[in-house]
Amino acid sequence: TRPIELLNSALSETRVEREKIQVKDVVVHWFKCDLRTKDNKSLHLASEKAKEKGVPLIAMYIVSPQDFEAHLTAPVRVDFILRTLEVLKSDLAKLDIPLYVETVEKRKKVPERILELLGEWGASHIFATVEYEVDELRREASLVRACLERGIAMDVVPDTCVVSPGELTSGTGRQYSVYTPWFRAWVAYLHDHPDQLDLFDEPGKNPEGARKKYAKLFESKIPSAPENKKLTEEEKKRFRSMWPPGEHEAHERLEKFCDARIVNYSDHRNFPAKSATSSLSVHLASGTLSSRTCIRTARDRNNTKKLNSGNQGIQTWISEVAWRDFYKHILAHWPYVCMNTPFKPEYTNIDWEYNDEHFKAWCEGRTGYPIVDAAMRQLNHCGYMHNRCRMIVGSFLAKHLLLDWRMGERYFMEHLIDGDFASNNGGWGFSASTGVDPQPYFRIFNPLLQSEKFDANGEYIRKWVPELEGIKGNAIHDPYGRGKGNEAKKKGYPERIVDHKESRDRALSRYKAGIGRE
Ligand code: FAD
Repeated sequence: TRPIELLNSALSETRVEREKIQVKDVVVHWFKCDLRTKDNKSLHLASEKAKEKGVPLIAMYIVSPQDFEAHLTAPVRVDFILRTLEVLKSDLAKLDIPLYVETVEKRKKVPERILELLGEWGASHIFATVEYEVDELRREASLVRACLERGIAMDVVPDTCVVSPGELTSGTGRQYSVYTPWFRAWVAYLHDHPDQLDLFDEPGKNPEGARKKYAKLFESKIPSAPENKKLTEEEKKRFRSMWPPGEHEAHERLEKFCDARIVNYSDHRNFPAKSATSSLSVHLASGTLSSRTCIRTARDRNNTKKLNSGNQGIQTWISEVAWRDFYKHILAHWPYVCMNTPFKPEYTNIDWEYNDEHFKAWCEGRTGYPIVDAAMRQLNHCGYMHNRCRMIVGSFLAKHLLLDWRMGERYFMEHLIDGDFASNNGGWGFSASTGVDPQPYFRIFNPLLQSEKFDANGEYIRKWVPELEGIKGNAIHDPYGRGKGNEAKKKGYPERIVDHKESRDRALSRYKAGIGRE
């Protein structure tokens, strides 16, 4: 049974019993990947439930170092989450809602601790948002039943996507595994159900007395990062200046992007030197912004209510936000992708190189391919990389270096501020040709052509590879091959660690043999 079905059955089999439960002392909202007050369906439902009987709402967040470890959460992302909790805590406090934060060292103990807290607080209802990773779905499925045994109604609300996994099935009743027909169905669904783009109100103020009664919970402190996820002082300073936390920042970014850049998005989005994309992925990954708000805001900037019509930039951006939904849909319906298994099983037996030196050069941005190196250095410096470059370095790792794509997938998760299992796994599957993308393995990005096309004057390369700063003209894309080797060498820039043609040929034959070995 797929974990999503376990959760769905837990919810449907307990529905009648849960609905009979009367509101007692408090209602609880458990924050996870939805760190916002605006347009948060689960938080909204919790607030409405509390209002029914005029009882207070308590919000909680559990810091689970082992979950961070298991999900390979980057320290920069942990820091962003913890800083966001500060913003959330102060916003909720204005509504007299406490945000109780506690660290639970062992991830297995999280459900047990939640049950204890609910008991202590006299909670009758708890609300949370669905997360589609396998362990989380399983945990929530058993928590729904464990709560009910204690007379508590737990609701796990699908609200991570604009259209939740399971809503769209093809004409033959099967799950889509190709983006284009899935996206057509996604658009049609939202046209047929325009209310799905209605935004949810923020929670109301807690009744008088909540502050006094729950004074201890208001005092709970946001912990510093767990030992396994600490940033250095220099990193803290650097990342914090780049990535202000919280939902106000997210909304401001969204508004600015929609005011100024969205209309040119389709023309400019592939050029990493331009600041043409929204940089909202960190907010979507942490839930400081809902994807519904993104689609609704973009749609309202268009001259039509149709999502696939009007301004091209708006349409393209909407279709990119939809990719996030698509990959969550893939994770929910093909959960084995969560277990180190490629979406296409026939790609399981590729004979990868496990060359540590090549992997190290890739991680450090020292492959001798300037566009690849610039991109990896952007990632290491910012915790972020432009989408075009993610595709270039992904293809380079899997095809040119013939390194197991899962090493790259892992490195990304360990360094991205927007690390999201579904999107990252989907992106790596695309880059290594092992994922849902129907393109065959012989699409191999030529890093030189990609560089010339998408960073034509070398602005992005010069920004991130200072050794090449002084190299003029199109030698920037291949200094050793275009007569600037001495200059590059003097500055310590490495020669190519692999030859393009040889590695392309090797990848083609190795992929072919691997698939043949099925
Ligand atoms: P915009 O271009 O402004 O797009 C808006 C939003 O749409 C993004 O914030 C994101 O939520 C979503 N989106 C856009 N493109 C994609 C896509 N291809 N797949 C899924 N969602 C998309 N995105 C992540 O959020 N987390 C990841 O861990 C991640 N890993 C990736 C790994 C690889 C190898 C590749 C090729 C792509 C990966 N992406 C990931 C997708 C994409 O690169 C980023 O979402 C995007 O670069 C974020 O920048 P932005 O917010 O300015 O995007």
